[in-house]
Amino acid sequence: MTLLNCGTLTIEGKSVGGLATYMRVKELDLIFDLGRCPISFIGTNHVFITHFHLDHYFGLPIYVSQRWISNMPPGEVFVPAEGIEQLQNILDSIAKLDSQRTWNHRLVPVKVGDRIPFRRNLVAYAIAVNHTIPAVGYLVCEVRDKLKPEHLGRPGAEIAELRRKGVPVTNRLELPIIAYLGDTQTVSMETHPLLARCQILVCECTFLLPEDRQRAEKTKHFHLDSLISLVKNFNGDKIVLTHFSQRYSTHLIQKQIEQAIPDPAQRAKIGLFI
Ligand SMILES: [Zn+2]
Ligand SMILES: [Zn+2]
Repeated sequence: MTLLNCGTLTIEGKSVGGLATYMRVKELDLIFDLGRCPISFIGTNHVFITHFHLDHYFGLPIYVSQRWISNMPPGEVFVPAEGIEQLQNILDSIAKLDSQRTWNHRLVPVKVGDRIPFRRNLVAYAIAVNHTIPAVGYLVCEVRDKLKPEHLGRPGAEIAELRRKGVPVTNRLELPIIAYLGDTQTVSMETHPLLARCQILVCECTFLLPEDRQRAEKTKHFHLDSLISLVKNFNGDKIVLTHFSQRYSTHLIQKQIEQAIPDPAQRAKIGLFI
């Protein structure tokens, strides 16, 4: 299991292109994609699936059945709306084969543009990506109520009194924390107004070498060539690269990224999750 510390958040899991991608952010009680399901992920309550390539959701039957066996409430599993019916059938068939029962589960259909509130103070936006089958990325924001400037410095009792009278005393703010894009050939900061200043941007980088450009084009995966402009357009803290082709060694991955982003200050912004 890989552990990557990014400020106040830790990303746990594993990612190898075509084999399996799954990552958990425990602090946010969420999982992004579930290509395999480590037993430690079972208790996490929100799962965001980007698309139905096997390496991104094959762990779901384990997640669903383990929660069912343990008498836990079903977790919320967000999936692209296209394909939800097939997934439902797959889970039902596996459950029948496994135990002649139906596992209790909760699949929630998601479309690009959806705003998904979860937990007490978080919201996920489903954002557009660019892949060979229907897919969505997710941008997770923390929702905070901030006192309106005209009320700053007032005693608490006065604020409470205003609240009691129904006067709106706060503005609602959304702070972009982490974006996870799943598989995508391109990343556009225009996709969502908060994406460019997200603290952490998790982006696939399946292909690195010049001879793999055509392959990236054909399979609609991100190529290292596009990283330079991504780094330039991104104002957040960290870009985490994942989903490297299984043909590349860790050494080659590090070397190629070093060559593509020679400036050490810019490179310090980049993390690898492999
Ligand atoms: Zn993939
Ligand atoms: Zn894919």
